[in-house]
Amino acid sequence: MSQETVFTSQRVLLNSESEVGPATIFVKDGKVVRIENEYRPSEATLDAGSKLLMPGIVDGHVHINQPGRTQWEGVVTASHAAAAGGVTTIIDMPLNCIPSTVTVDAYQQKRESFKDGMWVDVGTWGGVVPGNALDLVPMLEAGARGFKCFLCDSGVDEFPPVNEEQLRLAMSELKKKNGKLLFHAEMDTGATVDTTQDPTNYNTFLNSRPANMEVKAIDLVIKMCREFAPHVPCHIVHLSAADALPAIRAAKKEGLPLTVETCFHYLTINSEDVPARSTEYKCCPPIRNEANRNLLWEAVLDGTIDIVVSDHSPCTPDLKLHSCCGGKGLASDAVEGDFVKAWGGIASVGIGLPLLWSEGQKRGLRLQDVVRLICEQTAVHSGIGNSKGKIAVGHDADFVVWAPEEINRITIDKLHFRNKLTPYKERQCLGLVHQTVVRGTVVYDASQKSGDSQQWENGFSKLPHGKWIE
Ligand SMILES: [Zn+2]
Repeated sequence: MSQETVFTSQRVLLNSESEVGPATIFVKDGKVVRIENEYRPSEATLDAGSKLLMPGIVDGHVHINQPGRTQWEGVVTASHAAAAGGVTTIIDMPLNCIPSTVTVDAYQQKRESFKDGMWVDVGTWGGVVPGNALDLVPMLEAGARGFKCFLCDSGVDEFPPVNEEQLRLAMSELKKKNGKLLFHAEMDTGATVDTTQDPTNYNTFLNSRPANMEVKAIDLVIKMCREFAPHVPCHIVHLSAADALPAIRAAKKEGLPLTVETCFHYLTINSEDVPARSTEYKCCPPIRNEANRNLLWEAVLDGTIDIVVSDHSPCTPDLKLHSCCGGKGLASDAVEGDFVKAWGGIASVGIGLPLLWSEGQKRGLRLQDVVRLICEQTAVHSGIGNSKGKIAVGHDADFVVWAPEEINRITIDKLHFRNKLTPYKERQCLGLVHQTVVRGTVVYDASQKSGDSQQWENGFSKLPHGKWIE
């Protein structure tokens, strides 16, 4: 039997429906066993003082790229980055790793490859691709959280898109187990790149991925969702186009099992502000204009958008055709800063909390909303709402201790993912993470910088404490 550990703070937020107040949380074997509504520093293993202690963040959309593309990212660096930002669980995407997570065998390869490298808890989504319908139920039984599919080119050959017939086949299988289906919701509408325009100008790329690509795809998602309701919950990943919000609102009003996520970047960046050649801002669907961003915020605040995730999707700088390579490693015909040809994906795992909070608090977002959007509902979405996402007796003791009022400049030493290209470098935010606790163990402590400590290395626990989520 292990010892009880005790966490206390003058400011604790247990869940999205409670108020901030003093509390002491007793933890045994990684689970919360008791909560007292009092600040008790004399009994505490960890005394957070006046810092805010709230549930650990669950990021439901991360591309770890392991095995197969670990020069882009890997589980050790991705989970360090998560831990440093108060993220206690990450759910990996089934593509960009090789093999894609589309069979039980590939699922087991990923799980084996992550062993001993997880600083936070990690699970994975599986993928729906043409021809793997019969693999879906076995993958769910193995532990996949649900499945993701594409309705347009995914960017990698190993993960082809599905058409309506293939979707129907997959959903007929998912129906047997109420398996969830996630959609990359963009479909071809005939838009092309205007080759007379400068490819190093962001708008050249933006105009080639118009909002109607998302609207068309989301119409199909809603149609399929209705056809299989209530058995196959459908989820729209990384919504960017506000034009799709009316259809989403109507579908939700109809009672369809439809949920929607957006990402930190769509809520914190305007296309008007993307500098020329800065391909670290490129992702699909694209970041759109300020008017669009304001409408996304309305949908976040009124609950139409259920959750906010990172969609952390890095690659090496050469594939970003980025000037930070000085042309080194670029193909001879490549143009530096070419938005059209650069790999799409934004690196941001572990920096979402200050981004969301800085922008949100100006717009009336409360701390309770933060917990709802990035802890509680992301846990429910990932099928782990009975153990994660809020602080409750019987739940995992996953916490973040942070100071919402503290200024936090996102300097390069705070970026722990493998490739440091990110649009947020040097951005000034509100909200600094001090400690991250995974199932009762402190895995990140900003005050522990000492190099010769037995237990700590640059703020991180020397040993990984994360585990695979079945
Ligand atoms: Zn993604």
